[in-house]
Amino acid sequence: MQSVATKILSTLLIILFSNQLYSQYDTGYVARDINEMEQFNLYPSYDVYVQMMERFAADYPEICQLVDIGKSVENRRIMAVKISDNVSDNEYDEPEFLYSSTIHGDELCGFNLMLRLIDYLLKNYNSDSYITNLINNVQIYINPLANPDGTYNGGNLFVTKSTRYNKNGKDLNREFPKIDEQPTETLQPEVQCMVDFAKKHYFGISANLHAGSEILNYPWDSFFANEMPLPDNYWFVQICKKYVDTAHLIDPEYMISDIGPEGYVFGSEWYKIAGGRQDYMNYFHRCREITIELSNDYILHPDYLDEYWQKNRQPLINLIGESLHGVTGNVTNLYGETIPNAEIIVIDKDKAYSTVFTNAGGYYFRYLPNDSIYEIAAYAEGYETANQVVRTEKEQLVTLNFMLKEGVPDYPLPSEKTDADEPLFTAICTGGKLQMSSTTTINSVVLTTYDGRIVTKLQSKSTKTEYSVNNCSQGVYVIKADCGGRILTNKIFLSK
Ligand SMILES: [Zn+2]
Repeated sequence: MQSVATKILSTLLIILFSNQLYSQYDTGYVARDINEMEQFNLYPSYDVYVQMMERFAADYPEICQLVDIGKSVENRRIMAVKISDNVSDNEYDEPEFLYSSTIHGDELCGFNLMLRLIDYLLKNYNSDSYITNLINNVQIYINPLANPDGTYNGGNLFVTKSTRYNKNGKDLNREFPKIDEQPTETLQPEVQCMVDFAKKHYFGISANLHAGSEILNYPWDSFFANEMPLPDNYWFVQICKKYVDTAHLIDPEYMISDIGPEGYVFGSEWYKIAGGRQDYMNYFHRCREITIELSNDYILHPDYLDEYWQKNRQPLINLIGESLHGVTGNVTNLYGETIPNAEIIVIDKDKAYSTVFTNAGGYYFRYLPNDSIYEIAAYAEGYETANQVVRTEKEQLVTLNFMLKEGVPDYPLPSEKTDADEPLFTAICTGGKLQMSSTTTINSVVLTTYDGRIVTKLQSKSTKTEYSVNNCSQGVYVIKADCGGRILTNKIFLSK
């Protein structure tokens, strides 16, 4: 028979021993084994993260490749996967898209969501036609963790001790080359490898995932619009609006706050920063990068990860799909030889810092709003500049090829126009009336229910028009307005 003292002693030992076990990792937060990540309701330990990335590539070798971008200060791997058909080739006629998360090591939601997105894309290839089309036609890069030392600040089995900074105490989203300063000091290793990675690629659209707020943020972060006009302001607003509208199908309150009542904000109007990745990618690489602030909580409790996945899954997938809406083409000489690094200039729109360039295979991708007519010039040293007119189509990548004749180029002057030239359209519902106005003539309006049933079609020749909603049942409707030839879409809640 055990004495009472022995019993107490053994109980104490068990408590001590299990406490020690539990104190060696973040129980309830961290998966120590790859199988514990099956449901994506935890954050992986560093070793599990590496295993997962390696396994994605091993399990789907036809469409997934592991890319080592570089190493952190503490020698942890900074990795991405490339997801595409013909994954080992550079398919220059396909756009390149980039997701990158957790450059602030303690902003964890995106780290988990990116791993889940990789898994979801790979599992749905050849079963979901939208995803199959994306993988066949876009070169998708996903970097789930841009600051591993920050995330694993407390050790490879801990995320609750994570920090915003890298091991040198630097905020990496302030350390990218700045637009108006000569680079002097050496870059942080996590930044240097991302700079080298961006230089090696031709990313057309990218997003940097953060936490601490729930909102989308688009350039510039380091300038106000009047200091450096953003020629693609309207395009950015449209893609942000689509992201938020899609997320609202799951949670109508998501991303709505005082910062930006519509769910998105021009970066510097929220707060100004210099040395952020968003401005760096946009200005130096002509890549349309936005910032996605996923969750108000920095270290989001794992219990909420699934909820944030549900809200963001479709918007994240659709944003990749924006890579296939715009204008593309190749630039060749008269002998059909490709001309890399030719500059593609949208006349009366582009500034010197918003034009795009052909890649090493002579292809370009220029993202522009739907249903509009643009004059586009191709400029290359040793060739006469060629101009052509194109109409962008809804959710299509319209082809516009250029064949250049040898000669003396003529550089089109940068546009004096600003985005204020893009028409605005507003609609409000008050006193049983839907009141609509635009900065230009409203030619027509189509009002549909959320599931696409047409309620009414209106003709107009004015900047203002209205419609009585007394026969409409209360709910969310979609308005498509032709404002001066530009189709603008708004979502509105109608009530009597
Ligand atoms: Zn952040």
